[in-house]
Amino acid sequence: MSKTDEFRILGRRPGNEASIRFEYQGVSFDQDSFHVFAGLNAVDTREYVEQTFAALREAGLRCARMGAYKPRTSPYSFQGYGRQCLPYVFELAGKYDIRVISMEVTHDEHVDEIRQALHATGNPTGVMLQIGTRNTQNFELLKTVGSQRDFPILLKRGFGITLHESLLAAEYVASEGNRDIVFCLRGMKTNFGDPHRNLVDFGHVPAVKRLTRMPVCVDPSHSVGTRDASPEGIPDVFHVAAQGVISGANMVLVDMHPEPRRALVDAGQAITVQELPWLLEDLAIAREAYLVRREVAQRHAGQ
Ligand code: PEP
Ligand code: MN
Repeated sequence: MSKTDEFRILGRRPGNEASIRFEYQGVSFDQDSFHVFAGLNAVDTREYVEQTFAALREAGLRCARMGAYKPRTSPYSFQGYGRQCLPYVFELAGKYDIRVISMEVTHDEHVDEIRQALHATGNPTGVMLQIGTRNTQNFELLKTVGSQRDFPILLKRGFGITLHESLLAAEYVASEGNRDIVFCLRGMKTNFGDPHRNLVDFGHVPAVKRLTRMPVCVDPSHSVGTRDASPEGIPDVFHVAAQGVISGANMVLVDMHPEPRRALVDAGQAITVQELPWLLEDLAIAREAYLVRREVAQRHAGQ
């Protein structure tokens, strides 16, 4: 198979250059849009869910992340509240005008559970089905999410496979019919990333945009994995998020918790709700810089 045939649907090539573009719940996604999805890595109490949504609304955000189904490395770790928490997550999302929630699914049944819970609560919000890094090559799950049209998909890069293989995973989804896909970089598993949890791979933002037509997301929380800050006081999570955004990332997925130390999963990496306005101000600088860089490039490209 030639290279152009491999990314038959999602690939960018002459004659097939238009960005993947979709609108969901009144929010549009393409290679020019920009959205921040902040929220709980793992849903815990109703109170924390409400405080999280309240902070998002206060900051003017309409998108969130909420993990109900958690794939954990240890069978003894908290596995997520699953469908049990969906009613209060969706009701509260509606109360705070949150339109889209990124929520990981690890099994076919989770898609049905989400659909049923949305229906039972009167469809107060929407869900973007997140495929986690451990499931990037779970081909049956990719076919499941690709063959439904109710929900868009956030596909994470596999942390131990090539970028090419992860992009083929996205093509798997698209080949089943659903092209409403955002591709998410989240760092690579290697000790060379130390002292970060993973080796930050946001230099691939422009590569994904060149090779494919998908909007690109970065997840600075799973890349960095700590709340450590540089000497000037800027957390590494902010630094790498800005690095992704200044390179043209279309979405930032970030862990946030009202009391990070009490988070049930990845407690070390969440920002606080008080830090959200700071993060947004920082990212606005990076986004503006990206837009200016694009203008400069257009001016120079004609020379
Ligand atoms: C997550 O975003 O909750 C998550 C588990 O991320 P990843 O699949 O990138 O590890
Ligand atoms: Mn995690």
